[in-house]
Amino acid sequence: MQTRFDLTQADIPKQWYNLLPDFPQPLPPPLHPGTKEPLPPEALEAIFPKNLIQQEMSPERWIEIPEPVRDIYALWRPTPLMRAVRFEQALQTPAHIYYKYEGASPAGSHKVNTAVPQAYYNKQAGTKRLASETGAGQWGSSLALACKLFGLECNVYMVKVSYQQKPYRRMLMHTWGATVHPSPSDQTEYGRKMLAQDPHCAGSLGIAISEAIEDTVKTPNTKYSLGSVLNHVCLHQTVIGEESIRQMELAGEEPDVIFGCCGGGSNFAGLAFPFIRRMLEGKKKYRLVGVEPSACPTLTEGELRYDFGDTAETTPLMMMYTLGHNFMPPSIHAGGLRYHGMSPMVSHALKLGLIEAEAYHQTKVFEAATLFARTEGIVPAPESAHAIAGVVKEANQARESGQKRVILFNLSGHGLLDLSAYETYLTGKLQDV
Ligand SMILES: *Cc1c(COP(=O)(O)O)cnc(C)c1O
Repeated sequence: MQTRFDLTQADIPKQWYNLLPDFPQPLPPPLHPGTKEPLPPEALEAIFPKNLIQQEMSPERWIEIPEPVRDIYALWRPTPLMRAVRFEQALQTPAHIYYKYEGASPAGSHKVNTAVPQAYYNKQAGTKRLASETGAGQWGSSLALACKLFGLECNVYMVKVSYQQKPYRRMLMHTWGATVHPSPSDQTEYGRKMLAQDPHCAGSLGIAISEAIEDTVKTPNTKYSLGSVLNHVCLHQTVIGEESIRQMELAGEEPDVIFGCCGGGSNFAGLAFPFIRRMLEGKKKYRLVGVEPSACPTLTEGELRYDFGDTAETTPLMMMYTLGHNFMPPSIHAGGLRYHGMSPMVSHALKLGLIEAEAYHQTKVFEAATLFARTEGIVPAPESAHAIAGVVKEANQARESGQKRVILFNLSGHGLLDLSAYETYLTGKLQDV
């Protein structure tokens, strides 16, 4: 039985798909935090290069992927699309379950799909150094690799608790030549202020973003880079969905339900947006489900309103589902899903009813992940495992109702650097927060 649906290097998409112009209602623009007026593009030039700002606001449906970016994508793309038959059997479900495996990248997640073009466009624009933040280190390591491949310096502020408790991605960043600071750090005014208030502050993504932005505006030839949330990041991730559409054709099936986990929304957007395109073209109806942790329930319990992307209130205001920019998410094992906000594009898609959202507690998530590992072999990243928890519920419903359906999910990364979280689960110490 064929369970693997492969494309060749020549099939790596030549264009990214931009959902922005296709939205049935326009996306509310980002606002200047002072004037509350729509942000003029020039206002972003202090932190982003012009070519990426253009992409962030582009009215074009299709955007050419530069040849040097496609050449680097070929190191791991096209990624595999697999049918999880053993997982189906274990669940005793009539559903067919497919997954797109983004953990096949060198950094072990989908994040390199945007790190590489971001480094490329910065290099083109004359940037010498990139500053960014990272939670558990998936983004920092992806950016470290991309910067190394294009000859840029990389300076990463890593949330302190992860810097101390998750040393392996820090080591990966060092291996790829980046400089890494535990955040809050003594490198920035904002970091020093946080440390003066609380020398033991464990840090948060919001604080680390504030530090990286301050570093950017105060250091010559430096730009800032963000691993999720923004329109151009979602755009770069659409290679996932475009490949998946062709691979599902090879499998001879159309998905009915599509799942992805949601932190800032980029891996979900990457898989879902190309399918939304097909839906808007009237080709087919899909249920597209974003899955998040109950401990950080941005889409399911957040408010849709303008909010800051960071704690220090330095970013533009974005219209998004948010738990408030001062929300301190509890320390769950899916570090990549601990963000107070959500991509404005994903938020808009939810508001327009194009997608749905679900939330799960982490014990359910690890139960699903462990079953997947024991049947399909791959140990999922705790973040990706949220999508699997959604798939399990859907597959169980298919069994109970006796209705077949085709499920596709994004396995956004592997969990080989998250094994301590699995140990916590396997020894019965994992708790829901
Ligand atoms: C960072 C990360 C996520 C969450 O980020 P999104 O922008 O929501 O995709 C999900 N899965 C993995 C493996 C990650 O590293």
